[in-house]
Amino acid sequence: MLGYVCKYTPAAILDGFSAEHRRISPTAQDFSGADGFAHANLCSFAKSVMESGMHGEFDELVLTDCCDSMRRAYDVLRQYGNFKFIYLLSLPHCVNACSKELFAQELRKFTKAYADYSGKAFDWQLAAKTLSENTEPPAQSAPYISLLGARTSDNFADFVHSLSDLPVQNDTCGGQAPVCLSAMPNSEEEFYALYADALLSGVSCMRMTDVASRRRFTENPHLRGIVYHTVKFCDYYPYEYAALLKSDIPTVRVETDLTLGSEGQLKTRLEAFFETMGEKKMHENINTDGKYFAGVDSGSTSTNAVILDANRKIVGSAIVPTGTRVAQSAERALTEAMLTAGIQKEDIARTVSTGYGRSGIGAGDRAVTEITCHAKGAHFLNPEVRTVIDIGGQDSKVIRLNADGSVRNFQMNDKCAAGTGRFLENMARVLEMTVADMGARQLSVRENLKISNMCTVFAESEVVSLIAENKRIDDILDALYAAVCSKVNSLLTRAGREGKYMMTGGVAQNRGLVQKLENTLGETVYVYPEAQICGALGAALLASE
Ligand code: ADP
Repeated sequence: MLGYVCKYTPAAILDGFSAEHRRISPTAQDFSGADGFAHANLCSFAKSVMESGMHGEFDELVLTDCCDSMRRAYDVLRQYGNFKFIYLLSLPHCVNACSKELFAQELRKFTKAYADYSGKAFDWQLAAKTLSENTEPPAQSAPYISLLGARTSDNFADFVHSLSDLPVQNDTCGGQAPVCLSAMPNSEEEFYALYADALLSGVSCMRMTDVASRRRFTENPHLRGIVYHTVKFCDYYPYEYAALLKSDIPTVRVETDLTLGSEGQLKTRLEAFFETMGEKKMHENINTDGKYFAGVDSGSTSTNAVILDANRKIVGSAIVPTGTRVAQSAERALTEAMLTAGIQKEDIARTVSTGYGRSGIGAGDRAVTEITCHAKGAHFLNPEVRTVIDIGGQDSKVIRLNADGSVRNFQMNDKCAAGTGRFLENMARVLEMTVADMGARQLSVRENLKISNMCTVFAESEVVSLIAENKRIDDILDALYAAVCSKVNSLLTRAGREGKYMMTGGVAQNRGLVQKLENTLGETVYVYPEAQICGALGAALLASE
């Protein structure tokens, strides 16, 4: 079986050889193979191609020399892969009469190489016939979401689709329209010319010099929003994303490294995006006899529950550790909150669940992301707040609010723990204190120290070095808080700044950090006693609506 990755690969030529072929959908368990041959910061797409090449079911491979990373993947796989046939197709980067002629020659060279290797004859008429069977699909004529940007795995495209009520059109190069010839060729030479023309005349990928044809993706009047995919360490697509932000099409960026991890975080990001657009799958149950409303926030560290009465007054709440069993912790939090409210399960009209474990707990009649819920809760506590900084156990988020408390936009950290509660928990352990001691400490700072690395592992060794240099604990904590604030600052830069600010999540209990944040922003950061239950409060408010 022959595998290929790029949409410019002349797959019809392989049909002309009656060769079995399939486009690789690269996903990797991890990069343990590729990292042995390539720099850790090499584009994750190229690394996932290397992984697929090393472990995959293909014994023949065709790559294109579209960028340095793919050339590197070819070099590695040619030397260390186990291929009977491996070929690097030269791809022009511009589209004009000369480049089409050049590409036609490349197609001829490729045909000869495959014929020499396989010993088979090339049937150009068969190749042309398979192309003639392709038809351009009709343009979307009803509301839809576009999945745009860098190539994704098929799994990811399915994943986006599963979260949206609107149809999702895959406009990455993995899902674009099939190649069609403009006329039927009369000779093999003409076949190469027409095929080169057809391959290069489709919508350009971002590696091409002129990408104006990509405007087609955003001009359909039925387009309701864009999920923009970028690949870690690939430089090409963030430019297009930055340009899209200037348009008024709702757009969310999701970056993956094409491994299978961090699905939870991506799910939150996508669901929150569909919620802000009003395009989200909802499944509701209502107990018409109930007079109370419950919200359960199943976080990575704590599970919180809030009960509201019919006047939207908090009558019960609870915070319990999440532990390893999210469903049980949710039940416990809800039971404890009902106990403080003095009510029974039958008294609850509706429950909304939120947080990292929102879909895994049976407690909710409806699941809503913590982004929407924190916004709702914060607006309830202080309607003048326009920016919520939510730092929990494993996420840090900046949520911008509209005047009515709905989400204007949001930014969240990527999958590493830098700048989150977990980062502070690790540092507290190294400093031999609890997070509660750390958070209650009134700092007296004498020396301006710097933690230069935000990676939890490296920052930990920096803290160990500072301890060894007999630096004062308060000065070390101040440096750690400065590092967290710089992370928040970069989220604020991306989301946009607007006061008033409120901090939510467990880390809001850390007074030294809040103070540092106020100094960094030059503004008051409001923290309410309900900071840690703000998500559950927002969920309960949604239940009451
Ligand atoms: P999640 O929503 O992910 O479960 P939380 O909002 O409960 O997370 O926040 C957990 C984080 O809050 C912990 O990682 C810790 O850093 C911080 N935290 C918890 N309790 C305190 C406290 N008493 N003082 C300061 N920080 C705290």
